[in-house]
Amino acid sequence: MEDPDCIFCKIAKGQIPSAKVYESNDVLAFLDISPANKGHCLVIPKRHFETLTDMPDIELAALSAAVKKVALSVYTSLKADGFNIFMNNKKAAGQIVPHAHFHIVPRFKDDGISFDWPHRKYGEGELEEYAGKIKVK
Ligand code: AMP
Ligand code: ZN
Repeated sequence: MEDPDCIFCKIAKGQIPSAKVYESNDVLAFLDISPANKGHCLVIPKRHFETLTDMPDIELAALSAAVKKVALSVYTSLKADGFNIFMNNKKAAGQIVPHAHFHIVPRFKDDGISFDWPHRKYGEGELEEYAGKIKVK
């Protein structure tokens, strides 16, 4: 499952150094080298999966539990006022490294970071139409 050319697989195997903050059998968390705020962490499965939906539920459960642990540690140890957790899946969503990873960004009052998006509106009947399309079967 490992991709020999994948930078995060190399980090998971210790072939590329990283500033580790958490490690288990299946998961690694380390500092993002180009942080939104200092302390910005990435949490990855050690096995190579491109996106969240490629991951088996059991491995995603382990990853999610690790995200919670690291988020709590980021929040408390840095005395942050809050934190964002997000994940980019596929190039169109901003995914640059094609190895699944969650971002955890510590947030501080008035830190100037914005995750703003356009607040679009649904036309007549569109809300129901989209809910119908997406409804999980
Ligand atoms: P994404 O756009 O979600 O794929 O984000 C990839 C993230 O990985 C970016 O925020 C990069 O700064 C970060 N990154 C890339 N290479 C490394 C590395 N060698 N060590 C730590 N973080 C990295
Ligand atoms: Zn990989």
